[in-house]
Amino acid sequence: MKIHEYDAVIVGSGPAGAAYARTLHEEAPQLRVLMVEAGPSLSKPPGLHVKNLPDPKARAAAQLASQGPVTSLNPESPVPGPGRPGTFLLRPDELAPLAGMPAAAMSSNVGGMGAHWTCACPRPGASERISFLDDGTLDAALGEAERLLSVTSEAFADAPFSGDVRDRLKRAFHRTGAAAIQPMPLAVRKHPDGTITWSGTDVVMGPLAEPTTRGDFFELRAQTLCQRVMLDAGHVTGVELKDLTNGTVTQVHAPAVVVAADALRTPQLLFASGVRPRALGRYLNDQPQVISAVRLPADVVQSGAGEAAAGAAVHSGVSWVPYTDEEPFHGQVMQLDASPVPLAEDDPVVPGSVIGLGWFCATETVEENRVEFDDTSLDHYGMPRMTINYNLTWKDLRVIEQAKEAVTRAGKVLGTFLDDRPPFLLPAGSSLHYQGSVRMGQYDDGRSVCGPDSQVWGTEGLYVAGNGVIPTSTACNPTLTSVALAVLGARSLARSMH
Ligand code: FAD
Repeated sequence: MKIHEYDAVIVGSGPAGAAYARTLHEEAPQLRVLMVEAGPSLSKPPGLHVKNLPDPKARAAAQLASQGPVTSLNPESPVPGPGRPGTFLLRPDELAPLAGMPAAAMSSNVGGMGAHWTCACPRPGASERISFLDDGTLDAALGEAERLLSVTSEAFADAPFSGDVRDRLKRAFHRTGAAAIQPMPLAVRKHPDGTITWSGTDVVMGPLAEPTTRGDFFELRAQTLCQRVMLDAGHVTGVELKDLTNGTVTQVHAPAVVVAADALRTPQLLFASGVRPRALGRYLNDQPQVISAVRLPADVVQSGAGEAAAGAAVHSGVSWVPYTDEEPFHGQVMQLDASPVPLAEDDPVVPGSVIGLGWFCATETVEENRVEFDDTSLDHYGMPRMTINYNLTWKDLRVIEQAKEAVTRAGKVLGTFLDDRPPFLLPAGSSLHYQGSVRMGQYDDGRSVCGPDSQVWGTEGLYVAGNGVIPTSTACNPTLTSVALAVLGARSLARSMH
């Protein structure tokens, strides 16, 4: 019999993997946990959000280091091309805007995309919620996810233009209750001197982020690729790891493995391990993103310009137009220079006066929309090559038109559009919110990969985590929800190990 070197191995160090590590540590501190991450560590403590790095050169270097290997581990597969800063594109050669997913991207670094994200953490509403999880369980898990990510709606409460922005949005969207126009909940901490810290996975990891406080029970290995999860008769026995600094391959024995390797690479690793349930990689959905930008009216800008210029608030806040079943999209309304999507480059800006409008749409969950893997062809990491088959349905296209109309409505009440272009759709994959590829289900009916505890059907000790687990059609930014599902999974795993 093999001696277990660890009680659990976590593959991937983004917010979902970090939530497993922290929750396992809090629920069962005696467990020995190894976390492996293919990308490099960017910071001390590891997992810091790159926006917290004060030196722009250091920030740019950290983003670059997250964009995949600079030399391919497989001579037949070229190195990936860069996506948005901190990300790399799956297939930089695919450019058709409405077929496939040309903007599908990933990050490879300690902290994953959680070192680069915008930190918007809305709760799912109405039919975005997972109906087979009872409301109390889901809400408590979302609350715990908010604690782990340090989510607040108050960080920009005193931003000079934010009150005006929301008052104007209320004229265009008549909403009440949970769907009312409100500040976007954000994973940030505001300090007494007014400065902001953006939550990376160092925040989620808490004491585990610091070598001095993590103790001997937790280990993080960067630049370590998990090539395969090892199984014996439906039970996890460990992982096969490749040290990317020297190519050495080792096996680590553990009775539980959590694959939190993003919505594309989690199913890739299961496929590489011979775990290939019918739903693997299927039901993939992205959130089509419609964007535009407006300039606030001069009187609004003048009323708050003193404060903004004095640096009272670098950001004018982020406002939220929540999802409803009638309008199945949600709006993120934010100061443009706080947005990861550049919209207008040739216009000097009074801080906070140019507002980006980003509407994320829910799409139908369609079995045929999928990421497929190839046994015979490998990617630049030496893992099964991925191809995405993805098409929008007629219903999706109608929702996108509805969202364009909503952005126009919002823009008209907020000010003047920056250019003549009507609100437009970004190429598929731009949202970076990919879901469904290892989806959770209530029953093992061939339409899901894991059960409500995130354990892969019929495979004891194998857990999946991240946005790919989310089974519903959602428009809200997914990280809060996937961290909540990770909390439920980690608690279940901790219980099973007592
Ligand atoms: P990731 O954070 O992607 O981490 C997965 C990690 O697994 C990666 O580091 C990867 O290298 C590693 N990995 C993969 N395969 C292997 C392997 N075989 N072996 C070892 N390691 C492996 N979401 C929101 O909810 N709100 C936002 O406002 C928001 N804004 C965003 C803005 C930007 C610019 C970006 C880039 C993302 C944004 N997102 C946002 C998306 C958010 O960052 C992701 O939802 C979140 O990081 C997903 O967490 P994860 O842990 O599942 O995966």
